[in-house]
Amino acid sequence: MGPLIVDGVAVTHPEREVFGEGGPTKGDVATYYDAVIPLMLPELRGRPLSVVRCPQGTKGACFFQKHHADTLGKHVKAVTLKEKDGGKAEYLYVDDAKGILELVQMNTLEFHPWGARVDNPDQPDRLIFDIDPSQDVDWKTVVACARAIRERLQGEGLESFVRTSGGKGLHVVAPFRRGPSWDVVKAFCKGIADAMVADAPKRYIAEASKAKREGLIFIDWLRNTRGATSVTGWSLRARAGAPVAMPLGWEEIARLKTGGAFDLKKALKRTEGPKADPWEGIESLKQALPTR
Ligand code: ATP
Ligand code: MN
Repeated sequence: MGPLIVDGVAVTHPEREVFGEGGPTKGDVATYYDAVIPLMLPELRGRPLSVVRCPQGTKGACFFQKHHADTLGKHVKAVTLKEKDGGKAEYLYVDDAKGILELVQMNTLEFHPWGARVDNPDQPDRLIFDIDPSQDVDWKTVVACARAIRERLQGEGLESFVRTSGGKGLHVVAPFRRGPSWDVVKAFCKGIADAMVADAPKRYIAEASKAKREGLIFIDWLRNTRGATSVTGWSLRARAGAPVAMPLGWEEIARLKTGGAFDLKKALKRTEGPKADPWEGIESLKQALPTR
């Protein structure tokens, strides 16, 4: 089979079954991203981006890539950033649909942007709580956790948004005006996570290192670190069943059963319905992290 041309980008081997036998093909993945790009692009454009590439499909080895390479495509851009060790490196980002589709051609399945933009990587404009339930936590408790985080953020003057992770949990995201450093944002998020644990120590945990998480929800506030990423809304996950990280309205999460409730097909269907963009308005929301 010849390449599939999607928005001018040649996608080779469109027949290749990426999620195992009988599952979505590389062509399906490209068609999927082409359809959701208008909804997906606002959240990730102009941000340093890590991608998960699976050249052999999800059954083979997948890898995280954060560094730029010319081979990724001419719409996949480079930004030079400081690394943890003090050196510099070229990170990748995209600004447009073609950049996303070129990454898909390079077997990208997942998109993970930073909480900061390329023009000022040291000043985040978005915070995130990653709600990670252990296996034996029921969905009601996960939903209650997300709502409790939302309420605490509201108490600090911040509106927030929710999405499924495409895996076990939910992500709560709040945008804010740039200014505070990563350290300040991280400390703010730690404060909220610690307060949640203080209120309900039998339900929540906020330490990454603790091995004993049975029956608990890990409220991961450590994503709010320079260089950390989280999966973006509408991204597929390189996992069985082609699940999607789905932006939702707050009233919708109680009706789900898991963070993997949406797959490629359901997500595509949603693009045509009235709830296609529950995060509408996030770009124009004017709010600031409280100063203490
Ligand atoms: P789940 O519901 O299964 O937890 P998730 O996307 O929240 O799904 P996590 O394992 O909790 O997955 O990780 C949170 C985020 O951390 C991811 O969305 C991803 O951006 C980032 N991350 C996870 N693993 C890696 C890794 N190996 N390298 C770089 N970033 C990673
Ligand atoms: Mn998670």
